[in-house]
Amino acid sequence: MAIPLLKALSELHPYVKPSYALADAGYDYTPIYKQAQTMGIRALIDYNPRNEQLPEDNDKYFRPKCQNGHSYRYDSYDPQYDTLKYTQPKECKECPLNEGGTCQKVFKVKVSTDPRKYIVPARGSSSSFELYKQRTAVERVNAYLKEYFQLNNIRHRGKLAKVDFEISILAYTLGKLAVDRLNKSKRIAA
Ligand SMILES: [Zn+2]
Repeated sequence: MAIPLLKALSELHPYVKPSYALADAGYDYTPIYKQAQTMGIRALIDYNPRNEQLPEDNDKYFRPKCQNGHSYRYDSYDPQYDTLKYTQPKECKECPLNEGGTCQKVFKVKVSTDPRKYIVPARGSSSSFELYKQRTAVERVNAYLKEYFQLNNIRHRGKLAKVDFEISILAYTLGKLAVDRLNKSKRIAA
């Protein structure tokens, strides 16, 4: 459903230009990353290992590892070359294996080598965790709507179901907005 959803989003709402698409591991398929990419959207999807062998010289976030097992840190993304840049971690400064400066200071990986493993911002980076938190926040809203507005128990079909759904979301959003404004005015008063 992710691909038709992405397509419908751009067809029905051409002025909505999302920067990111966040999804759980159930959506970890290359065509979804590619569809997002063609629309200028970065897909942040939990990696689903399935039966794949993970490369030995990488950690679970596909970051390069030094000979001593330290993970390199995500530094930046270069849009011109479509590459992720990883730099040597602090731990390696005192590493005996690195005495002659034999360890690589920087790794660059092309996103296109595997769009599932290499995403922007890179897997394992604090910026990717920060972004992904928004998905968890939306899931809480969904759970609330299903539970308290009974959206998992709609008795209507077709158009009426749509009305039920939209009024629930409107009521929820207005309620939240009112609470936000009240809290804001209280803070100003204090
Ligand atoms: Zn090291």
